[in-house]
Amino acid sequence: MSAFPATLENLIEQFARLPGIGYKSAQRLAFYMLSLPDAETAEFASAILEAKETIHCCSVCQNFTDQEICPICASDSRDGGVICVVSDPKDVAAIERTREFEGKYHVLHGVISPMNHIGPDDLRIRELVSRVSDGAVREVIMATNPDTEGETTAKYLSRLLKPFGVRVTRLAYGIPVGGNLEFADDATLTRAMEGRQEI
Ligand code: ZN
Repeated sequence: MSAFPATLENLIEQFARLPGIGYKSAQRLAFYMLSLPDAETAEFASAILEAKETIHCCSVCQNFTDQEICPICASDSRDGGVICVVSDPKDVAAIERTREFEGKYHVLHGVISPMNHIGPDDLRIRELVSRVSDGAVREVIMATNPDTEGETTAKYLSRLLKPFGVRVTRLAYGIPVGGNLEFADDATLTRAMEGRQEI
């Protein structure tokens, strides 16, 4: 029998469902919630419900937005001829922080992963193909992670999109800025050597 009342046990279980949260962390979070003033708990609960109600995917790039079309897709100052393909909305935020990219995005919401039974049909690939087939796109930059699944996804998409006559590029691989050659793994060093550039 649980040491806690059913409602508390239920709260712990809800927290334990969150990614990266084990039972002990869930307990800690549940106790913390109970220690908050009522107003703050209500604020927390309504933030979850409100986000769930208002946030959906942009009908063009599939990134999260509270509008029909997100501000990046709606912007006239962004180059619609270049699409940067990422696996996750977090990656859009990361690239936007650099302020270097002036094109638009496409968010796949995952990567092809046979191990996790995720195939092309489970991702927002149809929407990407439809954008590219419209003919206004010149270049598609594959910015999926440089791991096995990210590579598989990038190669799959490249094969799918090249017949439309677009340039398909991949983010460069290399030594992290501020990194140390001595500690770079062999695969990274090999890729960095292959991707060397004139200076
Ligand atoms: Zn958008």
